[in-house]
Amino acid sequence: MSIDEIKGKLQQTLSTKRFTHSIMVMEAAVQLAHKYGGDVEKAALAGLIHDCAKELAPEVTFDLCHKHGIVVDEIMRKQPKLLHGMVGSYFARDMFEVNCPDVLSAVADHTMGRPGMDKLACIVFVADYIEATRDFPGVDEIREAAQQSLEMAILTGIDRSIAGILDKRELLHPRTVETRNWALNMLESGKAAGRITL
Ligand code: FE
Ligand code: FE
Repeated sequence: MSIDEIKGKLQQTLSTKRFTHSIMVMEAAVQLAHKYGGDVEKAALAGLIHDCAKELAPEVTFDLCHKHGIVVDEIMRKQPKLLHGMVGSYFARDMFEVNCPDVLSAVADHTMGRPGMDKLACIVFVADYIEATRDFPGVDEIREAAQQSLEMAILTGIDRSIAGILDKRELLHPRTVETRNWALNMLESGKAAGRITL
C-alpha cells in the first residue's frame, strides 16, 4: 500500500484529532531523521502509522494481543492503552501491508520505548512528544532537548511523563523506567552518537 493510500485509510478510521497528530508526527519524524541521519522514508511511514491502533476498543485490543501472542502483563491489563504500539505493529502489517521490521518495531516500541531501541524507534518516540500541535506543560523543554540529542529528548520526555503518572497516581510500567535509565546511561557514557551530551 502506498503512503497516500495508508493516509486515506487512517483518515477514514481515526478521529480528526488523532489523524492530525499522526500527520504531524510523520512531519516531526522526517525532520528528526534529517537532523540525526535516520532513514527519512521509514521515519515518515512509522510516524504516520504509529497510533493506528490507539482508538481500538479495549476488547478488540485484548483480542488482537491474544491472536498475535502479545503477552499482556497485569499493568497492561489495567491500562490497555499501553498496548496500542505493540498491537499497532501487527495491525499495520495486516491492514496496510507494512512489512519492514524496523518500521514495525518503531511502532511497537513508541509507547514505552525499549532499552537499546534503534535510531528509527528513537526518532518516532521523540517525534510523538514534540510534533507541532503538542501543547502540554514541559513540551518546549523536550523540543529543546531534541536539538541536543535523541537520548536527551527521550530522557526529558519520559521524566515529564513519569511526573504526570505520579501526579495522577496511575500505574507506572517498568519498561518506561528501563527506557529512561537506558537513555540516561547513554548520555552519561557519552554514547549518544555524535551529539552534545550532559
Ligand atoms: Fe501512541
Ligand atoms: Fe502518538
